[in-house]
Amino acid sequence: MGTYCFGIDVGGTTVKCGLFRTDGTLVEKWEIPTRKENNGDQILPDVAAAVNAKMEEKGISKAEVEGVGIGVPGPVNSKGEVSRAVNLFWGYKNVVGEMEELTGLHAEAGNDANVAALGEAWKGAAAGSSDVIMVTLGTGVGGGIIVDGKIVTGHHGAGGEIGHANVDHHETESCNCGNRGCLEQYASATGIVR
Ligand SMILES: [Zn+2]
Repeated sequence: MGTYCFGIDVGGTTVKCGLFRTDGTLVEKWEIPTRKENNGDQILPDVAAAVNAKMEEKGISKAEVEGVGIGVPGPVNSKGEVSRAVNLFWGYKNVVGEMEELTGLHAEAGNDANVAALGEAWKGAAAGSSDVIMVTLGTGVGGGIIVDGKIVTGHHGAGGEIGHANVDHHETESCNCGNRGCLEQYASATGIVR
């Protein structure tokens, strides 16, 4: 087992990167901009370059790295594939395959709110609990549900996506997802401003 691992949170504006020890101790964190031109084709190569550069800077070899975990704002299936991530302008993308090819490291990918829930359950506000609901409030409303220590991913990888649950059947304005009356239209930062 490697000594280190990388945690990557791909957001619509910045990518937050962390180098950790595998016991969860943060070694260093930093950010790179999210380049969304050309349908976001440069985002994963940028992440891979950041990971490779950090290993070189710290003198860490591939054998010392357990893997790279990536959170993506959209549904991610069990193979680490994204069908669509609107905030990144992504259509289909094999996130795990591309990262493994670019870094030569083991990679895992998940929905950002789901992996945030796993993080809170391991080291954060929900440490020690096996049944957890995480709500993320920002530009949108995300959610992650953990039952018996396992993330509820759902058939389409969008399990726990409470932001697009309908809470008002009379809403006339459309949500970014195309539906009307989503929780995100009221409880997100943009929704509250509106
Ligand atoms: Zn919606």
